[in-house]
Amino acid sequence: MTNKVCTQCGYEHVVIHRKYNGQRLCSKCFKKSIETKVLKTIKKQKLVTKGDKVLVGLSGGKDSVALLKILNILKEKGIIELEAVTIDEGISGYREEGIRIAKETTKELNVKHHIITFEDKYGFTIDKIMKAEEDNPNHQHACTYCGVFRRQVFNQVAREINATKLATGHNLDDESQSIMMNYLEGNINNMVRIGYKTSSSDKRFTPKIKPLREIPEKEIGLYVLESGFEVHFDGCPYAHESFRMEIGDFIRETTLKHPTIMYSILNGFEKIKPSLKKDYISQQIGKPNGTCEICGEPASQNICKSCKFLKDIKSKLKN
Ligand code: SF4
Ligand code: ZN
Repeated sequence: MTNKVCTQCGYEHVVIHRKYNGQRLCSKCFKKSIETKVLKTIKKQKLVTKGDKVLVGLSGGKDSVALLKILNILKEKGIIELEAVTIDEGISGYREEGIRIAKETTKELNVKHHIITFEDKYGFTIDKIMKAEEDNPNHQHACTYCGVFRRQVFNQVAREINATKLATGHNLDDESQSIMMNYLEGNINNMVRIGYKTSSSDKRFTPKIKPLREIPEKEIGLYVLESGFEVHFDGCPYAHESFRMEIGDFIRETTLKHPTIMYSILNGFEKIKPSLKKDYISQQIGKPNGTCEICGEPASQNICKSCKFLKDIKSKLKN
């Protein structure tokens, strides 16, 4: 049947039907389409320039493994240098497998790999904090702590190795969730910062890039499977408690009836962003280039967020 063949090459074995644009693709054309699309995004949005040293945040999950493999195409062509960092937050039963895969993938691609553990660096694990918080009904969500410390580690490693870009595997689902979440929470200041590339006026922050931003999560999963890459698909045990998860479920369900919805969220947001930025960014500049009195890291107040959390956590772990 003609409508069941690859719309690119005519081959009969189709692995995907993209409802949002009508394409049906065989494995080979599908993989090529993902790589071409990501490389096109990088070029169009000027995410890297020749000579960039890119540090990839590599969890060992599908998104970051796919990202590393695609960025490796640019490394092989001599356009960029590439290194990777994996953070071990101390989430047992979840992170170990990701670290093993991250080690193997970087070894195979000959990419320098850094592993930083919360335990060594800060003296706690996310599991320990959550255990100590078990009986506190008003406790912070694991991701609130985790996110702050992860951002700090990424940024520190990037600075230490003189990386010029910090790349993360955020996909189309993540981005449409972030836009909706921040909008529904009325968090416009955070919302206007979402983008292909985020840089700060503070030079101690390495610019961040998201080359997979236009690829739906499902397609990244299929890309790694069809490519035969080893990844782990398990989710973090703490993720289910989050508002992000609720928004994710809502968007996924809506996508079934309205296949283009995630692209509409992203594209609509990109259209209004310049106007939003004009009105909002200027209002929230406190002390952007300040320095934390305790740790010397960049901070908008006298003490950075991670030092505030650290103090809090240490007293909780003592009790
Ligand atoms: Fe950390 Fe939350 Fe991500 Fe789990 S889901 S790794 S707790 S930020
Ligand atoms: Zn600090």
